[in-house]
Amino acid sequence: MLDTFGRNIDYLRISVTDRCNLRCRYCMPEEGVEDIGHGNILGFEEIERIVRAAVSLGFRKFRLTGGEPLVRRNIVSLVERIAAVRGADAPVMTSNGVLLSRMAADLKAAGLCRVNISLDSLRAERYRRITRGGVLADALAGIRAAEAAGLLPIRLNVVAIRGFNDDEVLDFARLTLEHPWDVRFIELMPVGEGAAGFGLAYIAGHEIEAALDGFVPVSGKPGGAEVARYCRYPGAPGRVGFISPLSSHFCGDCNKLRLTADGRLKTCLHSNREMDLRPALRAQEDAPLLALLREAVLSKEARHRINEGEAPVRRGMNRIGG
Ligand code: SAM
Ligand code: SF4
Repeated sequence: MLDTFGRNIDYLRISVTDRCNLRCRYCMPEEGVEDIGHGNILGFEEIERIVRAAVSLGFRKFRLTGGEPLVRRNIVSLVERIAAVRGADAPVMTSNGVLLSRMAADLKAAGLCRVNISLDSLRAERYRRITRGGVLADALAGIRAAEAAGLLPIRLNVVAIRGFNDDEVLDFARLTLEHPWDVRFIELMPVGEGAAGFGLAYIAGHEIEAALDGFVPVSGKPGGAEVARYCRYPGAPGRVGFISPLSSHFCGDCNKLRLTADGRLKTCLHSNREMDLRPALRAQEDAPLLALLREAVLSKEARHRINEGEAPVRRGMNRIGG
């Protein structure tokens, strides 16, 4: 469905939980999250109903995220439900990978297409520090399991933070010389209180690109909901990508809405505006739900203004669905 700026909004990111088995310092408070109560979390039937309604408006792409989507009980069955919706592409997921070694094969069998895995350090002690206790070997085992299960292509998302992991940029980039993976550097965004503690520590994509000797841009957009720019070392099997929401606006190509675990629709990651879908979900007929989805698309902001002093959003990334 087209919004008022001519963008085709066809992508819904669905946060299935705000809980997580890690506590990344820029994302979540150390003590975890307040319980939002089982009754306030959307059930699988409700999520499936929203997906079906969205498909009827022209949405095609659905990504499960969180929090950590793999800690939601029976997540495999939600994948199965969404994969079975006619008109929807096979669902995709964003995960920290820690539980993937156990679950990748079942997720693939349920119809998951691929998974983006978040990994901010290749050094065990540093990984433990940024995640407040995570075990690097678990995440690496998850990557291997995803690859073995055919959840391809493997995409690693690295939040690049000045003074924290900037000395690992080349190590991450070198992974693409050996593996057919996309390694994507993401700029740290001022979302929620966790990120606020890091101030302006983001590293612009073009700074990293400038440090990658011999890599050449990959021309054209690989298609779909792709917001990354890519480069590649000539002959290498993998690519390095840059997701640069701060240093280079890609709002003009934004094609998504976000659904929080407690049933709020967000039209922009950087806006505090939320539309509560739960009253509409209580109605038998779909008309109120369709009306809210349409209204969300038609009221989607032209662009974020975080570089112009706009206040950061209050919800942390774990509560929005990154
Ligand atoms: N737990 C899953 C994971 O880590 O992949 C899914 C949810 S997590 C919120 C999704 C992505 O958002 C991760 O790649 C994470 O690094 C990223 N993220 C979290 N807070 C961020 C921030 N302030 N700026 C940029 N990316 C952020
Ligand atoms: Fe959990 Fe992902 Fe946030 Fe890290 S980035 S705390 S893994 S939700």
